Amino acid sequence: FNIAVPYNEPVLSYAPGSPEKKALLAAIHKAKSKQSELPAFINGKRVLDGEKVSVHPPHEHAHTLGHFYRGTKEHVHQAIDAALAAKQSWADTPWHERAAVFLRAADLLAGPYRARMNAATMLAQSKNAYQAEIDAVAEMCDFFRFNAYFLQEIYREQPLISPATIWNKLEYRPLEGFILAITPFNFTSIAANLPAAPAMCGNTVVWKPAETQIYSAVVIMELFEEAGLPPGVINLIYTDGPEVGDIVFKHRDFAGLHFTGSTGVFQHLWKEIGTNIDKYRSYPRVVGETGGKDFIIAHKDSDAEQVAVAMLRGAFEFQGQKCSAASRAYISAGLWPAVKERLLKDMNTLKMGSVEDFGNFVNAVIDERSFDKIAKYIDGEKKNPDAEIIAGGGYDKSEGYFIEPTVIVTKDPHSTTMEEEIFGPVLTVYVFEDNCWEEALHLVDTTSPYALTGAVFATDRNIIDHATKALANSAGNFYVNDKPTGAVVGQQPFGGARGSGTNDKAGSALNLTRWMSPRLIKENF
Ligand code: GLU
Repeated sequence: FNIAVPYNEPVLSYAPGSPEKKALLAAIHKAKSKQSELPAFINGKRVLDGEKVSVHPPHEHAHTLGHFYRGTKEHVHQAIDAALAAKQSWADTPWHERAAVFLRAADLLAGPYRARMNAATMLAQSKNAYQAEIDAVAEMCDFFRFNAYFLQEIYREQPLISPATIWNKLEYRPLEGFILAITPFNFTSIAANLPAAPAMCGNTVVWKPAETQIYSAVVIMELFEEAGLPPGVINLIYTDGPEVGDIVFKHRDFAGLHFTGSTGVFQHLWKEIGTNIDKYRSYPRVVGETGGKDFIIAHKDSDAEQVAVAMLRGAFEFQGQKCSAASRAYISAGLWPAVKERLLKDMNTLKMGSVEDFGNFVNAVIDERSFDKIAKYIDGEKKNPDAEIIAGGGYDKSEGYFIEPTVIVTKDPHSTTMEEEIFGPVLTVYVFEDNCWEEALHLVDTTSPYALTGAVFATDRNIIDHATKALANSAGNFYVNDKPTGAVVGQQPFGGARGSGTNDKAGSALNLTRWMSPRLIKENF
C-alpha cells in the first residue's frame, strides 16, 4: 500500500464557452431554482429541527437560497454521543482505509461535485468563479490528498533503535475523546479541512460551522457521505456558539479544538477550556488560526509594478476577507509615485457586482455585520485629517453588501486602520522617507499584535536577507517579492504566531501530529 506524492489539483480557467463554465452556470441555475432545506447531520441522520433561518446570497438580498434550522442544546449532546459511539470502530479502521475515504472525496470533488461545490460557495459566500475554484475545489482537494500522504509518512515506523531481544515501536493513537471543529465562512476548504484532518487521524468530530457557510457545509457532508465516511465520524450542527461551548467545554471527553476565526473568540474559548481544565480526561489540544494585519513593505529599489500588483491582489482579491489579506503597506517615498499610478490605473478596471457575471472581480462582503464594521472604518478615515482616501471609499447595501476596494494613505503609522484587523477590501498605505528603511522595518514589527503573513519587496540580496531577519517574528508566512496571500497546500504550509494563532500549519504533517497521541511500546522477546 503506497500513496504517491500528490499533485496540486489544477485550477480550471472558466473561459467563455468552456465546458467547465457551462457546467458551473447550469449548477448555479439549478441551485437558484429551488429553496433548499439545509439539514444538520447527526450520526448520519439529517436533522431539520429548531428555529428556521433563511439563507440569502450576500450579493442579492432579494433571493432566498434555502433555510437552516438553528439547533438546540439537545443537538450538541446528540452530536457528542454520536462522535463517542463512532470512535472505537473508526479508530480501529486501518489508517489507509481512513485516508482512502478522503482520497475518494477529493476525486469526487474534482469530478462530479466540482460544479455544485463551486456554485454553493459562489452563491452563499459571494466568491467569483475563480476564487471559488481556488478555494472550494483546488484547495479542498489538496488538503485531502496531501493530508493522506502526510499521514502515511507519519505512520511509517519510526527509526527507533531496537537492540537485540528488544522491539521498540511508536504507534500513533487518535486523541482520547472527541474533537470540536469551529470553522469560518471565508474558505470552504478550511471549513472542510478542520473536521477532516482530525478525522483522518482516527478521531471523531463535532463540527460547528459559521452560519454564513452552512449552504456549502451541507454539500461537504454529502461529499463525505458519498466517499464512504461512516455515520457519526463527523457531525455537523448549527446550535449557537455559546450553547455549544457550554456543553462541549464541560465534557470529560473533550479532547481538542480545531479552530479558524477571530482572535477574540479564540481567546475566549481558550479561557473557557482553561477554566474547565480539571474536568477533562486529557489536556485538550488547542489549535487555532485567528486574525491578521498583514503587511507589504517595499524598499526604494524594488519593482514598482510588482509592488502595485501585489497590493491590488493581496488586498482586494476575495474582498479582502482573508486572514492573509494585505491591509497595511509601507512604501518608500521614491517608489510611491510609480506604485500609486499603476495601482490606481489597475483599480479603475475592477468591476464589482454579482458572482453570476464572471467578469466581476469584486463581489459582496459576507454579511451586514461585516459590512457595517468595514464601512465604519472607512468613515472614520474620511473624517481623519491625517488620512486621504485615494481610491474607493463607497459602499452600498441596498441590494447586496458591496464595498468598493478602498486605498487610504495615512500620515500616521499608528492610525486605527494601520493597526486593527478590518477583514474587508481596505488597504492603508504609509509612505516612509527613502532613508528610513530601518524605522519602517521596526514599524512593521511593532505596529500590530498579529503575525500571520507579510511581504517584503527589494532587489538587493543584502536588503532582503536583513529584512527577513529583522521581521523573523512578524509573520508565519513571509513572502519575498510576492503578495502575502495565496498559500498553496504542499507548497507553503500556512499559519502564524503571536495574535494570529498557534501556528500549526494547516495542510502539513505538523498539523496532523496535533491530532495524534503517540504511544511507545517496548517489548522483550
Ligand atoms: N491560505 C490562505 C492564503 O494564503 C488564507 C487563509 C485564510 O484566510 O484563513 O491566502
